This record gives sequence, structure tokens and C-alpha cells, in this order.
Amino acid sequence: MGAREVNYGRLKVVRLGGPLVSAHLLVSDDALTLIDTGLWGIPGELRSVVRRLGRSPGDLRDIVLTHGHLDHTGGAAEIQAWSGARVWVHPADREHVEQRVNYTGLARGCGTLERAGVVVGRLGGWCYQAPVIGGELRDGDVLPFAAGLRVWHLPGHTPGHCALVAEGVLGDKGGGLVFSGDVFASYSWSVHRPPAFLTRDRSRAEVSLRELAMARPVAVLPSHYDRMEPGLHARRLTQLANKRRNVV
Ligand SMILES: [Zn+2]
Ligand SMILES: [Zn+2]
Repeated sequence: MGAREVNYGRLKVVRLGGPLVSAHLLVSDDALTLIDTGLWGIPGELRSVVRRLGRSPGDLRDIVLTHGHLDHTGGAAEIQAWSGARVWVHPADREHVEQRVNYTGLARGCGTLERAGVVVGRLGGWCYQAPVIGGELRDGDVLPFAAGLRVWHLPGHTPGHCALVAEGVLGDKGGGLVFSGDVFASYSWSVHRPPAFLTRDRSRAEVSLRELAMARPVAVLPSHYDRMEPGLHARRLTQLANKRRNVV
């Protein structure tokens, strides 16, 4: 699968999970920050990574969720119980994380899928529990950890979908590493928007995709991707956005 970590300025980013879905651990001098919590396997993998880094559970202070889908929130409660970390999410996805969301239209398929995921998890002895949400993400806020993590509200996929930009680590050199959540998925065989049935508002999601592409980021890590090469995904994003697409 290639590299499992990259250094970006003063920040080390460790990939948890794999091509199906990834979460990212941000390692800075003072603390650990987790972006998304993946599905069932992530809490165990996280524990061994934290051990390998010579850190303790209490060093993980914050968990930032890009949005409420189960493949991004599955391990949140377990990791929170282990570390005591504060969980952040945009208010528009709060009910989703707490499994109180009502799906409408095409997105009902997503609800069915999430319920199926919970059932399959139960068969394996895993039960989805909602974490305690302790922080709200607001567009433009710069969270005071990981050397400064900017919240970028990019709704459509879900109403509260956010990207996070690690932009404090490069000093005044500019740029930033964008954790783009589910704005797009990036594989050598296919660079694509999330499937329609997983997206609440396709028109709004398209606006978000273009907003992200027009900012011309040089380093992007989506949640669903093949190789851990942020420059590669930035280039693929540009190519995807340049392809014309009619949104109904
Ligand atoms: Zn999603
Ligand atoms: Zn996803």
C-alpha cells in the first residue's frame, strides 16, 4: 500500500485504515489530533501507533470528524473512552453522529447502508455508540491544535461536511495540507465524486468540489484513496473538477 505516514512541515501525519477508508493521526510536538475515526479496526490500530510513537492515550486531545457517515465516525466513542479526547463536528451533522438523522430521497439508501453496517458490526461484537460531542466546527475557525487547523465547511455530501486545513505548519511559506473528507475519492483507476445515494445534495456538493479545486491546494488527503501522496491527490482533484458534469 506504500507509505503510511508523511511529514508536512513540522507535522507528521499517520494514515490509519486503508484504501477502503482512512483516518489520519496528526502528530505535533505538544499533542495528537485525529481526523475521523474509521470503522471497526481503527481503534486497535491507533493504540499500537500511539505506543510506537512513545505517546500515551491522554496525548490524544482532539478528534475532528469531517462528517457524520458511519465509516468516518465508527470508532469515535471507543477512542474517546480510551483517550478522553474531545470530539468536534459541525452542528449540521451532530444528529447524524448521534444516529438521529432522517434520510430523505436517494439518501435513504445511505441510511439503509449505515443500519446494515451497524448490524454487521454487531455480529462481530461491535456496536455503534455515539461519542459525546464537545466542540462545534464553524467555517473559518482555526482550531488551536496541530499548529492550527482551519475549518472549511464544504457541504452537500452531508449538510455539515467539513474539510480541515493544516496550514500553520509551514510558517509563512503558505499552502496547507487539506483533509478533504468525502468531497471526492481518489484512486489510480478512478477519481470520482461520492455515489449519488451517499450524497444529500448533489448540486451543493458540486459547488463545494469546485470551491476546493479553485483554491488550488497543493496537498490533499481525501478519506478514500490509494497512495499516501498529497501532491498526487491535489492534481487529480484539478483534473476531476475540469471534467464537465451535468448535475440534476
Ligand atoms: Zn461520506
Ligand atoms: Zn466516506
